[in-house]
Amino acid sequence: MLRLKDVYKTFDGQKALNDVSIQFPKNKTTVIVGPSGSGKSTLLRSLNLLEIPDSGEYDFNDLKIDFSKKISSKTVLNVRRHTSMVFQSFNLFPHLTVIKNVMEGPVQVLGKSKAEASQLAKQLLSKVGMEGKADAYPAQLSGGQAQRVAIARSLAMHPEYILLDEPTSALDPEIEMEVLRVLLDLAKEKQSLIIVTHNLTFAQRVANQIVFLEDGKIGFEGPTDEFFNSNEPRIKEFLAAMS
Ligand code: ADP
Ligand code: MG
Repeated sequence: MLRLKDVYKTFDGQKALNDVSIQFPKNKTTVIVGPSGSGKSTLLRSLNLLEIPDSGEYDFNDLKIDFSKKISSKTVLNVRRHTSMVFQSFNLFPHLTVIKNVMEGPVQVLGKSKAEASQLAKQLLSKVGMEGKADAYPAQLSGGQAQRVAIARSLAMHPEYILLDEPTSALDPEIEMEVLRVLLDLAKEKQSLIIVTHNLTFAQRVANQIVFLEDGKIGFEGPTDEFFNSNEPRIKEFLAAMS
């Protein structure tokens, strides 16, 4: 279980995260929703220490971090082994083929042999429907294909949680579904996912838990059905504005 407790993050005097305490259960999918600027990316990036909150606690298995103290680079590496971020813009290595992109982490970071990493990469590329493009370069891929490779690359590191920040927002709507289908499959296989998305239809399908952020505060945290059937005026207003 991954937990944040009493987390604050201020940018230029403005509170991006304002006393956030939250739990992300293992083997479940949590979807983070909320208006633009509500702190969703800051929250997600804090889970991967891409953003370091000003104060609060991070708790993951036996790893505990006090954000108000200095964080060692060993701790940062440790956290990033357990949480892997998939970016909006894919971030594939342009000079490496698709399969080499997926093999890079297992070889360089996990110390696997090339043969082992290659076998794993093939298996993961097939899982995301990209086995036919193993030898292509990122520039030869559509956005949806690139994002599926990025997901395979994350999976190759066997992280306990995969974090995705608006994974389809750079994609055309007709291509979006091919990525969402991969995520729905992963959720079904009980890969722990934490996803920021504006696609509420997808959120409703994929999420076990919804986190609703408003002005850096948690406006709701709970089961998906409860969120979508809420009578809370602010949630109803948000849902109406998004539909
Ligand atoms: P969301 O992802 O929900 O749109 P963000 O987490 O990106 O929200 O941003 C929350 C608030 O923090 C916003 O007011 C945003 O302008 C501010 N913010 C986020 N990142 C930075 C940054 N690196 N520097 C300054 N302000 C930032
Ligand atoms: Mg964002």
